[in-house]
Amino acid sequence: MELRLDGKLALVTGASGGLGLHFAGVLAKAGAHVTLAARRAETVEAEAHRLREAGHAADAAELDVTRDDSVAALFEATAFDIVINNAGIAGGGAALDMPRDEFQQVIDTNLSGVFAVAQAAARGMTEQGGAIVNIASILGLRVAGHVAAYTASKAAVVQLTKALALEWARYGIRVSALCPGYIETSINNAFFATDAGKALIRRIPQRRLGRLTDLDAPLLLLASDQAAYMTGAIIAVDGGHLVSGL
Ligand code: NAD
Repeated sequence: MELRLDGKLALVTGASGGLGLHFAGVLAKAGAHVTLAARRAETVEAEAHRLREAGHAADAAELDVTRDDSVAALFEATAFDIVINNAGIAGGGAALDMPRDEFQQVIDTNLSGVFAVAQAAARGMTEQGGAIVNIASILGLRVAGHVAAYTASKAAVVQLTKALALEWARYGIRVSALCPGYIETSINNAFFATDAGKALIRRIPQRRLGRLTDLDAPLLLLASDQAAYMTGAIIAVDGGHLVSGL
């Protein structure tokens, strides 16, 4: 069975690079019309142009998920069928040294930003329904050192996902979360080549990092009508990292 999204309007937040840019390509190739949203409009416009040149339907929008006016402006213009709440920041550091404003910035982006986008999206979905996929993390389900704000924000996204799924099921709005494990990207592959990085990989039961493409089928499933009876689902894609032995 092929998972298709023909005729669907999809939004990906934080689509200027990394997972978000990859997700935009996956949704566009499955037939959705994708809006790539990020703070730097010119970057997402260039990526949307690339997708259009490849024969897909894509456009770009400026969006800062921490600003109410920015979220409102985007949703004033369009109602989406599918929203991928991907924008996020890491904000690492020792908890003893973390200034409160840095902690707050992670919460504002990763948690309040996800809520604001989900709420604005859902207000436009109450008639025809829709699918919201929040990109959480395995750090929303377990902890690691030096990521206190991040792990707290992602745990809250997991719980928010379930709360919104409960409230919005009556409108045909499905809310799910994808919890990726460590995915190899250009940003982290230098670390994973170090001894510490290699030691981390040995703790993953499948003994490898995730690839961006490992997320494709779970993302498409949660976004598509084939998952009509799935809501509040929290799906880990992590090579078994969450079930590593204690
Ligand atoms: P990334 O830094 O490459 O991408 C994050 C994106 O979010 C960027 O495009 C950035 O510009 C955008 N963004 C940040 N703040 C924003 C704001 N206020 N408004 C709009 N956009 C904003 O990181 P990534 O690794 O691609 O991460 C994408 C998502 O996946 C994040 O939510 C992250 O927590 C999650 N995640 C990543 C991994 C991984 O291994 N890379 C694992 C688990 C979860």
